[in-house]
Amino acid sequence: MQDLDCYLVGGAVRDELLGRPSPDRDWVVVGATEAELLALDFMRVGKDFPVFLHPQTKEEYALARTERKRGQGHRGFAIDASPEVTLEQDLGRRDLTINAIAKDRTGQLIDPYNGLRDLSDRIFRHVSEAFTEDPLRVFRVARFAAQLPDFKVAEETQTLMRSMAVAGELQTLSAERVWQEVAKALGAPHPHRWFEVLGDCGGLAPWLEELQHLAAHRFYSGSSEQRFAQLPLSMAELEGLAKRLRIPKHYVQLAADRLLYGAVLSAYPWRASQAAELYHALTELQLLHDSARINRVMALLRPDVVAKDGAVLKDIRQGLRAVQLPADHGMSGSAYGEALKQLRITWLHRYLAR
Ligand code: ATP
Ligand code: MG
Repeated sequence: MQDLDCYLVGGAVRDELLGRPSPDRDWVVVGATEAELLALDFMRVGKDFPVFLHPQTKEEYALARTERKRGQGHRGFAIDASPEVTLEQDLGRRDLTINAIAKDRTGQLIDPYNGLRDLSDRIFRHVSEAFTEDPLRVFRVARFAAQLPDFKVAEETQTLMRSMAVAGELQTLSAERVWQEVAKALGAPHPHRWFEVLGDCGGLAPWLEELQHLAAHRFYSGSSEQRFAQLPLSMAELEGLAKRLRIPKHYVQLAADRLLYGAVLSAYPWRASQAAELYHALTELQLLHDSARINRVMALLRPDVVAKDGAVLKDIRQGLRAVQLPADHGMSGSAYGEALKQLRITWLHRYLAR
């Protein structure tokens, strides 16, 4: 193990130099073979690339490799991971110079593409023209911008990103992959930068064509799901986007719930005259069965109410459930349903007027 020629690379080195925490640590191994790593009890995990988990730390170790474009899209690469591939070659296939710095065991930095200079100048710059070979990189640059808002995209990189968007390369990505990037961007500290960078290179259409005009949108703090639900979309736009990106149901539901019932729900404290409208919203949100859905919308619309007045929905739920028609009502089917509904709205009216 001691003889392995390995280097810390990628985001871990970048983040350490920036003094920020890094989610994971990636290593590259030079001059070794798959058989040697397996003999040292590394576990192979990469399907497309020779990537392994360290037997103790479980961190990712990849054999140094080069990639050549073979087919279309994000995965169409011919890989060479033979022991002759050098560290410099491996760093040369990476997306940005700030992600192409390596650190050896002694702490010495290896920086053949001037990533350190770009780090201190706060610039996202591609390592080589091969940047255009993987359209995912356009979204990655936007994601880094959402995480590091004081960085700017180098003009030459901007030009490449634009040419990739114009050539329709982004369309070769899968819906799931693009959605993953959107979800991450919405969870990042500065999501508006993601939309700005993509907007600047024409990268929002066709995947996110409904979101091309967000310049004035202010992202509130909140989870990725909550920020998605706050996007200024019509119902038709939401449905179009959800279908194209195969967005997970819980995201779409929260957004739709806000669109449909947001007006009345956020008008808390409710007036008695809103009883019918509120009752409609509450039943559509299944309050009588389960309060999870209404709680999620209220946490989005009125976190202040949830924090201060959280019990009010519980009261309403219990009150509404307790309302029953007299035993001898003699009604059935829709007449019964309608009578119960009227009785419950009357109860709610009284409750709100109290
Ligand atoms: P994060 O902080 O999100 O983990 P990261 O830069 O570490 O960011 P990873 O996806 O963990 O990103 O990848 C590790 C490294 O591998 C990157 O820093 C970069 O050098 C390289 N890399 C990853 N994906 C690509 C890609 N699509 N094209 C080129 N290089 C890539
Ligand atoms: Mg990483």
